[in-house]
Amino acid sequence: MDYDVAVIGGGIHGVGVAQAAAIRGYKTILIEQYSDLAQGTSSRSSKLIHGGLRYLEQYQFSLVRECLLERSYLLKNAPDLVTLKPIYIPVYKDSKRPSWMIYVGLSMYALLGNLASDARFKIVPKNKWSQLHNLNKDNLQAVFQYYEAQTNDRLLTHAVMNSAQEHGAELMLNTNVSSINLLNNHNLITCETNTGTTKKISSTTVINAAGPWAARVLDKVQPKQEKIAVDLVQGTHIVLPLQLGDIIFYLESPDDKRPLFVMPWYGNTLVGTTESLFTQEPSSTTPLKEEVEYLLRAFSHHFPAFKQEQLKIKHQFSGLRVLPSGANNSNQRSRETIYLRDRKIKPRLLSIFGGKLTTYRATSEKVIIYLQESLPKQQPYTETKYLKLE
Ligand SMILES: Cc1cc2nc3c(=O)[nH]c(=O)nc-3n(C[C@H](O)[C@H](O)[C@H](O)COP(=O)(O)OP(=O)(O)OC[C@H]3O[C@@H](n4cnc5c(N)ncnc54)[C@H](O)[C@@H]3O)c2cc1C
Repeated sequence: MDYDVAVIGGGIHGVGVAQAAAIRGYKTILIEQYSDLAQGTSSRSSKLIHGGLRYLEQYQFSLVRECLLERSYLLKNAPDLVTLKPIYIPVYKDSKRPSWMIYVGLSMYALLGNLASDARFKIVPKNKWSQLHNLNKDNLQAVFQYYEAQTNDRLLTHAVMNSAQEHGAELMLNTNVSSINLLNNHNLITCETNTGTTKKISSTTVINAAGPWAARVLDKVQPKQEKIAVDLVQGTHIVLPLQLGDIIFYLESPDDKRPLFVMPWYGNTLVGTTESLFTQEPSSTTPLKEEVEYLLRAFSHHFPAFKQEQLKIKHQFSGLRVLPSGANNSNQRSRETIYLRDRKIKPRLLSIFGGKLTTYRATSEKVIIYLQESLPKQQPYTETKYLKLE
């Protein structure tokens, strides 16, 4: 089997790269270990296609600009999958971020979004606070409203793969990549299927889009590759069987002032997320009791009108962020994507570390640009930013 591009991993990054490669006419295959796409992080996110307001605190202006641009493409190309929702930030007397800081942040956000109507914000007048569905009003000083978009991350991943397949990409499910040999004229990927068959795939370039497994996939490469230091940081969400309207709340945890989201989710309410360092095999990620309690405490604090018996958890899940290692709070670490190549000139292997659902398309385009000189001449193509996703 001969391919130009072999992608390991059927999460949002893998399918994004498969789409970007296939539309350029490259012979592309995507290999996924599980029986379906989006079984890793890409179905366990907060499901926001967002500009990332809080990245402004870390001066990640280019990331916020890129997120807002990507959000605008997705709103246009996937209107059934990505919808704009009002998001509310209540500011209390003891909030970590005072009103002036939120005001400055949202003003910068609007500027980075070219003052488009969906990038602007407003201050919700006090006489409208009663519309905010049981939100705790004690010591409430101000409420800001702006817009973010929500998606179904699993369905979005499927939609991008459908588009890749329409352009000729092949999909191989139930297949675990067990070794990668980087050779001079081609690279050899050895895979094991779930029926016990061994398959050999030859490809000019290999993209390691294995998300939280990416470091493990890198260990399977010959010759041995340089590694980068990353941490896996678990984030848990809970789904509560109650409704707060078609709006999102951006809140602070009463315990440690970390930001949290409370969002509508198929007639229920999704609350997340947490940050716990994770050191096990990625497939064993599971919500911890203390994470669930932390989320319930934050929810009850902000919506005290709900009785304990209404807070019966319907569903819970956790996913793993891939973040640069560091001693600082994981919440403050860079969310920029890291691209690791086996060599600078004519790379054969590129690994993606970290990244965001929101920016998967931009990330995938960058991957192809990094690999361009290793690949054959491109065919004329329609850019991914114009492709409809269904
Ligand atoms: C808690 C949490 C909340 C988040 N919220 C948001 C958000 O609201 N908005 C946002 O923009 N981003 C968010 N993110 C980030 C975003 O979800 C991730 O960046 C993105 O989903 C990562 O996708 P991926 O394709 O890199 O990894 P994954 O989705 O994990 O995909 C990797 C795939 O590789 C496969 N694989 C691994 N090893 C092998 C192998 N050897 N052979 C074959 N296949 C293999 C796995 O099975 C898996 O399907 C969040 C992340 C977390 C953890």
